[in-house]
Order: sequence, then C-alpha cells, then structure tokens
Amino acid sequence: MASLSDIETRLFLNNEFVQGSSGRTFTLTNPATEKPSVSVHEADAADIEVAVKAAGAAWKPWVDLDAWKRAEAVSTLANLIVQNASKFAELDALCMGTPVAIYGFQAMAAAGVLKYYAGIGADASGKTSLNTANHLNLTLKQPYGVTAAIIPWNTPMLIACAAIGPAVMAGNAIIIKSSEKAPLSMLLLAKLVKESSLFPPGVIQFVSGFGASTGALLSSHPAIRKLAFTGSVNTGRIIKKLAADSNMKSVSLELGGKSPLIVFSDANIEKAAADAALSIALLSGQTCIASSRVYIHQDAMEAFKTQFIPTFQAILGKAGDPQDPSTTHGPQADSNQFGSVMGFIEAAKRDGLVPVAGGEAVPQEGYFLQPTVFIDPPSDADILRKEIFGPVVSLSTFLDEEEVLARANDTEYGLYASVYTKDIQRAIRLAKQLESGTVAINCTSPLMAFDIAFGGYKSSGDGRQFGQEGLEAWLEVSWPHLTASSVSKEVARRPGDM
Ligand code: NAD
Repeated sequence: MASLSDIETRLFLNNEFVQGSSGRTFTLTNPATEKPSVSVHEADAADIEVAVKAAGAAWKPWVDLDAWKRAEAVSTLANLIVQNASKFAELDALCMGTPVAIYGFQAMAAAGVLKYYAGIGADASGKTSLNTANHLNLTLKQPYGVTAAIIPWNTPMLIACAAIGPAVMAGNAIIIKSSEKAPLSMLLLAKLVKESSLFPPGVIQFVSGFGASTGALLSSHPAIRKLAFTGSVNTGRIIKKLAADSNMKSVSLELGGKSPLIVFSDANIEKAAADAALSIALLSGQTCIASSRVYIHQDAMEAFKTQFIPTFQAILGKAGDPQDPSTTHGPQADSNQFGSVMGFIEAAKRDGLVPVAGGEAVPQEGYFLQPTVFIDPPSDADILRKEIFGPVVSLSTFLDEEEVLARANDTEYGLYASVYTKDIQRAIRLAKQLESGTVAINCTSPLMAFDIAFGGYKSSGDGRQFGQEGLEAWLEVSWPHLTASSVSKEVARRPGDM
C-alpha cells in the first residue's frame, strides 16, 4: 500500500483540506498488529460551524443547477472511485483489518450506488390533483438544504455513498462524519470529490472525530435539517433524542441486526450451509446482516452441522495481514470490538455453554478470533439475543414452522432474515410473517440491489436507504395549491370550475 506519510488526515471543508481548529488529533491502531498507524485531525465545534456555514451557502446554487449537471458530478465521482478501488480497500484494511481480498467489492458497490442515483436522482415523484373544488393541488419535492450523515466503520464507503448519492442529487449539501475507527477511506473519497472539480465548495464535506463530541455536535445542530445515521441501536437512540431536543430534524436510522436463517429439511442443505458460513464469516462477523442465528429442522441438523462448521472454519482459515491478498481472516476492528465479542463468549461459557468450535482468541498478535459455534443455546442466552458483531454463530434445532417463526421473530431486531426450503407456499408465507426489512429465500447475505429499498423493522431502524425510497428520504414534500382563477382552462377538469 501507499506510504503512510501520503495518507490524507485533515478535515475536508469547503473543498479544502484543513487542520482541525483545536489542533487535536487521534491516533489509529492497526488491528492486525496492535501498533499505531496514523494520527487524524479531529473536528470540534468551530470546524462544524465552518462546515454548516459552507453547506448553507452551497446548497441553493447547487439545487438551481440543471439536474443533469448534478448527475454528471455524481457519476464522475463514481468513476474516480472505481479507478481507486484498491486504495480504498487498503485504507479500510489498515483501519479495521478487513482483508483486501474480500473488500475490493465495497468501493465498486459504492460507485454502483452513486451511478444508480445519478440515473434516477432527477426523478422524485410528485402528484397533481383536482380533488378539492376550484383548486389545483400539487406536491413539490424540495431538498432539506443542510444535511449530514454519520457513518459506521464496518462498510464506510458503501454507507457514505448511499447517503451522498441521493442527498446531492436531491439538491442538498451534505457533511459526512466518518467513524473514529475508519476515517481514512472517507478522506480519500474527499480527495476524489476535489479531483472531480464538479462539486462546488460546501456541497460535500468530511469531518473526522468521535461520536460523543463531533457526532453529537452534528446531531444537535439547529441548522442541519436532515441526518442519516447508520450504526448501533444504542447510538441511534441517543441521536434521535439529540435531534428531537435541537430542531426536530428528520433522522433516518439504519441500525443493528440479529438475523435468523431458517433451514427446513426439504432445503438444499449443502447450499444452505455454505451460504450461512459465508454470511457469518464475512468481515469476521462484523456486518449488520450477518446470519448469526441459524435455526435448522431437527431432521437436517446433523447434515447441516457437518457441512457448516468446516466451511466456516475454512473461510476464516488463515488469520493474517489484511493487506495480503491471500488472507481471508481479518481481525476484529479494534480492542473494544475484540473485548466485546470475547465478553459474549466468556459469559456463555460461564453459563455452562460449550462451543463446539472456536471460542478462543487466535494465539498471535492482532485482534483475531476463532470462528465460534454454539449449539442450541437457551432462548434467553445473550449470544442468541444480542448483536455480537463477531464470528460467533448459534445453531438451534426446531420442530415445526409455527415454532420457528415465533422464535425468529422473538427479537428487538428486524433487519434481515433468510429461509431455505423447496416449498414455495411456505417460503411466501414466511416472507410475509417474518418481521424483517429483508427476507431472502434460498439465499442469504450479502446481496445488494441498489434499486430496492433496504432497512429495518423494529429497533433495526427507521426509514429506508437505496431505491426510490432512498431518494425520497432526502426530500421535503410541500403542497402548493392554486385557486381555479389562477389555473388555465386547459388544466381545469370540470367546466364548471372555471
Ligand atoms: P456506533 O453506533 O458505535 O457508531 C456509529 C457512528 O456513530 C460513528 O461514526 C460514531 O462516531 C458515531 N457516534 C457514536 N456515538 C455517538 C453520539 N453519541 N452522537 C453522535 N454520533 C455518535 O456503531 P459502529 O460500531 O460504528 O457500527 C456497528 C453498528 O452499525 C452495528 O450495530 C451494525 O449492525 C450497524 N450497521 C448497520 C447497517 C445497516 O444498514 N442497518 C450497516 C452497517 C452497520
């Protein structure tokens, strides 16, 4: 990868890289080596004021541009991301240990999202109606103006571009706050915004910093009218309160999950086991849609287990340098994540549960964990109820459809669920009854469709990203209505109205 001294670490305000006004920096630790890597500038209140002011000045001329000019800027940024895809993977590997071999896709997916919104971004749907006497009613979709997005560390490029694309196509200016664990890929994205020369100063800005300080400043800022947050349920709660207590800004929330995967005995067990292993192994279990609760019909349990465990172990086989293209097993993102996952494993062991695979740290430097499998934990066990965000999965036996549906829905989360069966009637029944924003039939995460809305039921979120819904999320709706006397004869439906 590029030398550490070439990496941009400053804030990106008004199309310029600047040092944080406080002069404070924070140092990143490489999770594969536990050694410090680079120090990054932290935004404080004065920097946020600069960003908000610049965004306030930027959005009106930006929305007044023809939409195709905004689309040209967004698709140019997408092309620059594609050209730099490997650099993004290297920076995220440095920050949070995601192996470059399996993370190259993220920048490509992020570019795909931008291209999708460059295509549909001018197409917010409105309405005309003549349903009140003597009036023509219209809906007008307008940008919020100054907006922000707070980004998690696990898939920063994808989440940032899923906000940037619709936000700026809708005519907003946006301030992106990266995670304190993974700010570097966001700063490379900032470089490309500048390199494109197509975004006026203030339309897209990037700040780095911690949640309780920089993130809270954005969440409670009275001039920010819309905030998109992706992260944990706990932080989502805090942010929604900050937003309500400041200016009641619109908040969309993409939060955590504890995704059930249900395998009936008529399913293709080999495929179900292979898919389930990939889902929980990806990014060492650190995805919101990881299938971390697997329910298997008792007749299929033995066959499933026999195929699942070695596949899971093989994917997380070689714990090593995430920058090495042959590495498939990266570390947990930092010591906190590592400690939190180990805490769940240790608590389960204290409660008498014995993992049938893994259950320990990998004995080498770095925050690596063994792929860990528990069988039939009790229904109140934390490993079955809480989002662990690590390579830890529970396999549970069930007897019939009604029982497994109740167990799958018995959770505060509702982000993603999967069903494996050859019975199409059953698949459709469960797709309707599972309380989940996504239901995958005979497949599981990761799968992504930019034109389909994605988001969570229950505590997994509020609002949707991607698709047309993801665009509408960045638009206010207003209702202009005209009296009949101001409407031309051609528009009037009823002759008596004029
Ligand atoms: P997190 O909640 O700890 O942090 C997310 C972001 O919020 C970071 O930028 C952080 O600095 C900021 N933040 C923290 N406290 C804040 C506060 N008080 N005020 C304002 N901002 C604050 O989450 P994380 O550990 O970065 O990410 C992992 C979580 O994200 C998991 O729960 C995962 O399921 C979820 N996630 C969800 C999706 C989805 O699409 N639903 C996608 C990716 C990740």
